[in-house]
Amino acid sequence: MCGIVGAIAQREVSEILLQGLKKLEYRGYDSAGMAVVDDKSNCTRVRRLGKVQALADAVDENAVLGGTGIAHTRWATHGEPSEINAHPHVSNSISIVHNGIIENHQPLRELLQQRGYVFYSQTDTEVIAHLVAWELKSAASLREAVQKSVTQLEGAYGMVAMDSNDPSRLVVARSGSPIVIGRGIGENFLASDQLALLNVTRRFMYLEEGDVAEITRRDVFVFDQSGNAVEREVIESNVESDAGNKGKYRHFMQKEIFEQSTALINTMEGRISHDAVITESIGVNAVEILNKVEHVQIIACGTSYNAGMTARYWFESLAGVSCDVEIASEFRYRKFVTRPNSLLITLSQSGETADTLAALRLAKESGYMAAMTVCNVAGSSLVRESDFAFMTRAGTEIGVASTKAFTTQLLALLMLVTAMGKQQKRIDAAKEKEIVEAIVALPAQIETALTFDKEIAALAPDFAEKHHTLFLGRGEFYPIAMEASLKLKEISYIHAEAYAAGELKHGPLALVDADMPVVVVAPGNELLEKLKSNIEEVRARGGLLYVFAEKEAGFNNEAGMKVVNLPKVSEITAPIYYTVPMQLLSYHVALIKGTDVDQPRNLAKAVTVE
Ligand code: GLU
Repeated sequence: MCGIVGAIAQREVSEILLQGLKKLEYRGYDSAGMAVVDDKSNCTRVRRLGKVQALADAVDENAVLGGTGIAHTRWATHGEPSEINAHPHVSNSISIVHNGIIENHQPLRELLQQRGYVFYSQTDTEVIAHLVAWELKSAASLREAVQKSVTQLEGAYGMVAMDSNDPSRLVVARSGSPIVIGRGIGENFLASDQLALLNVTRRFMYLEEGDVAEITRRDVFVFDQSGNAVEREVIESNVESDAGNKGKYRHFMQKEIFEQSTALINTMEGRISHDAVITESIGVNAVEILNKVEHVQIIACGTSYNAGMTARYWFESLAGVSCDVEIASEFRYRKFVTRPNSLLITLSQSGETADTLAALRLAKESGYMAAMTVCNVAGSSLVRESDFAFMTRAGTEIGVASTKAFTTQLLALLMLVTAMGKQQKRIDAAKEKEIVEAIVALPAQIETALTFDKEIAALAPDFAEKHHTLFLGRGEFYPIAMEASLKLKEISYIHAEAYAAGELKHGPLALVDADMPVVVVAPGNELLEKLKSNIEEVRARGGLLYVFAEKEAGFNNEAGMKVVNLPKVSEITAPIYYTVPMQLLSYHVALIKGTDVDQPRNLAKAVTVE
């Protein structure tokens, strides 16, 4: 979930470890630590609650010397954020950093206590340190001790073991949480994300599920799940080390649209197993809170509000928990009634949105059970001031019009809804599996949606000349239509409105004529037939229709109607999927209009004023 960095070199490594941790800060974390060992087996461990900078200051004050080291940013799942719970965890000569959750930590803890090990932290991770120390007593090598230990672990881990008695090697293991090895010349590195290592190498070896690898300065020996020696290809990375670089893209917004499958993979990592959402990954005490919630109040602005509106459908239909969504600037100035056992959720990309922050501060005095934030910026005000934060890991979003922050917010909310529904016994194991399978399939489906770029670009000239556009959707696709209309407004300055398609005949139909393009989000769900009637209402009035549907829905290009036929996806994740073609449409219309796509007039990225 959070960050791991490791290095084995002839030079001092503490600075490399700190730089690596800084690159991973975007993921959100609560504490940081490192352990470094020199050639004479002197091991120094430094840990700090709070920022990587606090750790860097501590490293400056203490001599943290040596060429072999491991470092970690922790996002607490078991045990509060504190220096004692920060990684690395130590047992005799063994130091461990770990990302993920060890689900059977309790029985292992009891077993290891019986064997005489003393636990200093409340983390699940400390069991790994003692387990490896125990196995090392009878194993031929650190690698063998790790291999024996991981067979006893249930849950998700990306982990590194270091033995101060033998600084010439590090051993890593992964299952459910990624580890990448960075190859250098006479030195090697490892991390949970290649971004952490781009300052020191561009040659990466990706471990597969179940792999254990032994890393020395010169070599890397990889063993698969069954203990067989295997080769893993070394790949030259072409990832940009600088998030502030557009790379091959013309605009940051375009880059960010195309980065969405990676952002979604990052957001789901360590939070789902093959058939379940890991409830603990939502936060310390989350299980207790999710068990009790009877009502959810979402507060947000702009795009985040649209994410909240989508999630409302999920909270009520999947988790059976009532949900209200309100614009922060309205909520903060009205007298509201707090329902019993309500969970407050704020949504914000930056975590600094002034109205949302003000609403949070107000709500905290108003009897909510807990305040949670879904946010993209670690250490932001909303993250600091909420009881717990569920981080989206979209990475830096530079384009003012939000894209990947929105889709990752939706994913985070869907995982939250699933965990809540499961805790409250309204989502059974089969349903949970169905949701998780839909989530896992999503990144590849988003890649497919992106291949429609040219087809969607070909529609854009029809809009560029127009002054207005209507977007229609039904059910959870109504807020997706709202988000599509907001995107078009923001970057192309075309007046756009979204309507729940069933509402059309109650007023807006009067606007429909040949000068009013009408965009319809039409996935195949139980409302499709009703939506088809709404489409006919528009056609009968000479309106020009642009229908985004799945092939099976049976829409065809004909006079007055252009159709983008997308491959079918799960109904559950379809709102996230259908967002992508809508983003592409707005982007291409703005390109034709020649507006400033990344910095639209009058708008700012983080709205820190009221
Ligand atoms: N479950 C571990 C802990 O709470 C690791 C959390 C992480 O991935 O940062 O310490």
